[in-house]
Amino acid sequence: MSDKRYIYDLSEGDATMRNLLGGKGAGVAEMSRIGVPVPDAFTVTTTACVETMNLGGQWPEGLAEEINAGLKRLEERTGRTLGGTERPLLVSVRSGAVYSMPGMMDTILNLGISDESVAAVAAESGNERFAWDCYRRFIQMYGEVVEGVPPHAYEDALTELKRNRGVELDTDLSAEDLKELVDTFKAISNEHLGGEWTTDPVEQLHRAVNAVFKSWLNPRAEVYRRANNIPADLGTAVNIMQMVFGNRGDTSATGVCFTRNPSTGDKELYGEFLVNAQGEDVVAGIRTPRPLAEMREVLPEAYDQLIATMKRMEEHYRDMQDMEFTIENGQLFLLQTRNGKRTAAAALKVASDLVDEGLITKEEALLRIEPAQLDQLLHPAIDPKHGRKPIAKGLPASPGAAVGEVVFDADTAAERGGRGEPVVLVRYETTPDDIHGVIVAQGVLTAHGGMTSHAAVVARGMGKPCVAGASGIHIDVKARTLTVGDRVIAEGEVITLDGSTGDVYGEALELIPPRINEDFQRLVTWADEVRQLGVRANADNFEDASKARELGAQGIGLCRTEHMFMAQDRLPAVRRMILAETHASRTEALAEILPMQQQDFEGIFTAMKGLPVTVRLLDPPLHEFLPNLVEQSLLVQKLELTDGDPAELEAARGTLAQVKRLHELNPMLGTRGCRLAMLYPEIPDMQARAIIRAALAVLEREGETVGVEIMIPLVALSKELEVQRGIVERAVKEELEAAGKDLPVTIGTMIELPRAALVADQIAEYADFFSFGTNDLTQTGVGISRDDAENGFLTQYVMDRVLERNPFESIDVDGVGQLVEIGVTKGRAVKQNLKTGVCGEHGGDPDSIEFFQSVGLDYVSCSPYRVPIARFAAAKAVLKQRED
Ligand code: PEP
Ligand code: MG
Repeated sequence: MSDKRYIYDLSEGDATMRNLLGGKGAGVAEMSRIGVPVPDAFTVTTTACVETMNLGGQWPEGLAEEINAGLKRLEERTGRTLGGTERPLLVSVRSGAVYSMPGMMDTILNLGISDESVAAVAAESGNERFAWDCYRRFIQMYGEVVEGVPPHAYEDALTELKRNRGVELDTDLSAEDLKELVDTFKAISNEHLGGEWTTDPVEQLHRAVNAVFKSWLNPRAEVYRRANNIPADLGTAVNIMQMVFGNRGDTSATGVCFTRNPSTGDKELYGEFLVNAQGEDVVAGIRTPRPLAEMREVLPEAYDQLIATMKRMEEHYRDMQDMEFTIENGQLFLLQTRNGKRTAAAALKVASDLVDEGLITKEEALLRIEPAQLDQLLHPAIDPKHGRKPIAKGLPASPGAAVGEVVFDADTAAERGGRGEPVVLVRYETTPDDIHGVIVAQGVLTAHGGMTSHAAVVARGMGKPCVAGASGIHIDVKARTLTVGDRVIAEGEVITLDGSTGDVYGEALELIPPRINEDFQRLVTWADEVRQLGVRANADNFEDASKARELGAQGIGLCRTEHMFMAQDRLPAVRRMILAETHASRTEALAEILPMQQQDFEGIFTAMKGLPVTVRLLDPPLHEFLPNLVEQSLLVQKLELTDGDPAELEAARGTLAQVKRLHELNPMLGTRGCRLAMLYPEIPDMQARAIIRAALAVLEREGETVGVEIMIPLVALSKELEVQRGIVERAVKEELEAAGKDLPVTIGTMIELPRAALVADQIAEYADFFSFGTNDLTQTGVGISRDDAENGFLTQYVMDRVLERNPFESIDVDGVGQLVEIGVTKGRAVKQNLKTGVCGEHGGDPDSIEFFQSVGLDYVSCSPYRVPIARFAAAKAVLKQRED
């Protein structure tokens, strides 16, 4: 055998072969290896899929032969023949990527049933109805999924037959009815496929495998991969498994279970089953499944076997498992196991409990937490004091609260949600085709389906609130209304979902800030023991600073002062200051602003006393402080036309002339950062004084104050920093001397221009610290204006994979990352102990944090609600670094 293989038999795989066999393939192989009952199978590797994609859809040489040989071996092991007239072998064909990925091809069941084998299936099972039921299901699944026949074609025929027979349920149809349905279905397939529908099971198997390959590239899978940062070139494996039947009568069943509650993490029975049903019935929500606890009465032996297997699987994988099972004539088979998707709350509880149970270490527990997912715990919940009555109730499928306008289809949700409008996606049930709408919706409400329905699973994975199976609601997609009793809610009206209770409210409810629970507290403390990066917050008012501190921030890494200039009560003085033509009038305007600035700083310093606070001096886009050019021109015109007050007209003209003089074509690259302070040194002078006075006032009042760090923004030249440092130092010295006090004050700069990074050694001469402003460093390093690009080509670039990630969300390691690394290295070459941090958006992004750890920054600074995420991410970064 050549060293490249495309097929592995069940007995040849194990859990370590996930990259080759996909999660499902490796999972079943591992179960079989440890003696858990699994139907026999073989797996087509991800390599086969990748090579097929690379060959433009052609199979690589030898693949078809290997599949045939794998099939032969499976036939020999089972003593059956695919589609045979005696002891026929039926198989399922399933996709199985390396990472669990909703959105790919639906499973094909019963492949191998045909005109030749159906009689043998009937004879063997002693159940003719069962055989014909399998056959009609197969034609439908194969036609829809592999050959692309529109689903309604078969569904309509089934509905019509039921109507003709006067029955409601599929199960009320007789063997004869189903036989007739098979003929109708075959005719439908022939009609849609121009008579080319193959009835040869081996050919069908090949086509099904190929359809799985193709589904890797389908749009819904692509959307999912993008949302979850799964590389596009991994490919999927294909699992071909002997069928076992949950629809063989009342001692057969099919179901799904979790070894713990995936919403809360509690160690309790969680799952659903359906007697006399086949796999997809449970997830598709066609019949309402029963809670697992009831299985104890109905199928006691299989139940005991299942409970024992659940325990065993959890101990083996040392993690919560999500399992699919089938019971055929009382005999349990596991079809799949994987680490269960869970909410952030459940992730923390499970990790914490597994440590207590001695199954994992604290470090492993930390590695299990997905920091970005914790975001959902940091989101608001419904204020319990609302006193409103829910209009409907469904299952609490994914916790959290969502308020938004009702929309009835995923495209509308994607369009409106993409524009940042809060929408709630309301569907009868969701399918993988809805994924792009779910991603941007605040929450999802379905009328149908259980705790393991598509909507529930996907929403939990994304940390979105979801209420599933709210059977009291009626959705009319055409009329675009949602009706509950006599209340009609039209598209665009606001509702509130409580994914933790299943309640639906017909109005917008107040939300309250999130609370951090015990498990969170426990794990984040472990994270703090491991991490090396400090975690600070970006905050520029008392409330945000207090919140940041509550969430564990070790200081403020960026206090922007622009907002303080923009407040309505200050803008007139700020404008006068900027438009002033003499030093005296500028100083006068600034003197008015100083006490207000001081007051702001006192608030922040009070909240952060005992910790360091980096205050960044004014970084203006100049135009934001000035009257708008067009509006000012119109005002002048209006005054001219209406013969208004001559003094007013003259003043307006004067302002217009100044606005024109200061107007900039590229404000982003204009008089920003320290450049305005270079023109008007009175500004940094005033700010430095306000900072020191505030720090001293807090010291006086509270008995302690903050570590003052004054930061000069957007420096490109070392001379700029030299000059600015001089101005600040002088003001600080004078203020301290006047107060007769001493305070340690450090002065540093932002590194947010490529030139600054490249000459960081020169700049470091004048800096006590560097804080990388990766927002501007990305804008100027990549040459992309964020505000313009995010609504335009940048989104397209990410969709087309010209860029893997939006570089404003996650740092562009190769380019901008290199600038950061150069900046750190050059800066430290001059000052060994130069403190370095980051305060761009990337400071709260787990992947970027991993990078910042690798280049040896001292701290990251992010928005207050991301502080806990950063604490976990920083710990994970250390653990991963140790692993490498
Ligand atoms: C930055 O550029 O990364 C930064 C933090 O500054 P701002 O976002 O205020 O420009
Ligand atoms: Mg900046």
